Amino acid sequence: MERYDCVVVGAGPVGAAAAERSASLGLSTLVLEEHGTIGHPVQCAGLLSTAAFAECLVSDRPVRNRVQGARIVSDMGSELTFDAGCTRAVVVDRGELDREMAGAAASAGAEFRLRSPVRRVEGDRVVTGGPCASEIAFGVLIAADGPRGTIARSLGFTRSPTHLGGVQADILLTGSVDPRLVEIYPNAAPEFFAWCIPVSDRLVRVGLCGETGVRDLFMAFRSRWAGSVIYLVSGTIPLGTMPRSYGKRTLFVGDAAGLAKPTSGGGIYTGVRSGRYAAETAAACLEAGDLSDEALAAYENRWKADFGRELLLGYRLQMARRRVTPDEIDRLIRAFGHPGVIRAIIEDGDMDRPSALLARLCRMPALWPILPILMRRGIAEIVGRC
Ligand SMILES: Cc1cc2nc3c(=O)[nH]c(=O)nc-3n(C[C@H](O)[C@H](O)[C@H](O)COP(=O)(O)OP(=O)(O)OC[C@H]3O[C@@H](n4cnc5c(N)ncnc54)[C@H](O)[C@@H]3O)c2cc1C
Repeated sequence: MERYDCVVVGAGPVGAAAAERSASLGLSTLVLEEHGTIGHPVQCAGLLSTAAFAECLVSDRPVRNRVQGARIVSDMGSELTFDAGCTRAVVVDRGELDREMAGAAASAGAEFRLRSPVRRVEGDRVVTGGPCASEIAFGVLIAADGPRGTIARSLGFTRSPTHLGGVQADILLTGSVDPRLVEIYPNAAPEFFAWCIPVSDRLVRVGLCGETGVRDLFMAFRSRWAGSVIYLVSGTIPLGTMPRSYGKRTLFVGDAAGLAKPTSGGGIYTGVRSGRYAAETAAACLEAGDLSDEALAAYENRWKADFGRELLLGYRLQMARRRVTPDEIDRLIRAFGHPGVIRAIIEDGDMDRPSALLARLCRMPALWPILPILMRRGIAEIVGRC
């Protein structure tokens, strides 16, 4: 039977980052991917902070646009625009990004096997289906099988508490938009938010997420943009981390572990970092000859020390956000239009680590008038605790 030090399930960005680090550390590494093509289908808006994009360690080739701010629209009269005047995020072609990351892993020595769905895990072996069905033994298994992955369930692990459904269309506009600004519409998707992400001034990615009525909400939202839909996709975003992301020789990474940011649904930044932590933990455990759960726990300790607090804060805020009414959203957006608040957002805003900005905003007298809303909805308490 074939045997690899590290078997990675899933060739998304997180699996590729884990495989690249694993192979670079000298581990024999195999990536198993159920699809016949890496980076397809794309289920992502492709908006990455400049920090998240830097984490991917790729060339500029996947970049389609650079954005420098956002416009937040309540649909009830108030709007808020902040423009940093310099690039704060990029819009990428996810297919190209995924393929370049997989290429880096292959260059480092990782093997890829496509059309190889992992059907189940039996002890220290994975059983794959597809045209090359086989059994493969592993030292450590890295489960990067995404938000709908089955490895966790098959091994008896509890998954993320909630999963949101998302629908998104690429629309070639008859008109045009400002390509420098992302647009956010909180009231168009009351359980999350809706977005319009410019790929150029004529091409936008329009979508939303939620738990209920997602298709109807999407149809209504999509009709705001005149133009032709050239790509339509639905996907899943996990909300909340799995209670335990390691054990039974397995490390769960990225969306498979529920590491997407609950406030935005973005999962590349945290996911890619978790993939590298997993590979480094695998290498250390194999080197020490200790694959016990206690040894593998080092992986979870690392991602928690890095961004665990941000994810917990984001999860609580996202749950509280659902209690905020459309009218309250309108009043919050109006209050955030204060010049000092906009300056704080531009100076301290960090898509990947929002807690520093929140702490600063809480101290700003300009926002005290909205304190009753924040207290009523439990948000003040959450931010106060962080
Ligand atoms: C509508 C939408 C918009 C989004 N927009 C953004 C955004 O703008 N920015 C951002 O950062 N994030 C965004 N996300 C989230 C982002 O797409 C994910 O966080 C990211 O793809 C997670 O990467 P991953 O490698 O963990 O999982 P995936 O990218 O889901 O990769 C998992 C891989 O595992 C494979 N796989 C699954 N099961 C098996 C199996 N049993 N055997 C073999 N292979 C298997 C799958 O085929 C897939 O290739 C969005 C998500 C959605 C749904």
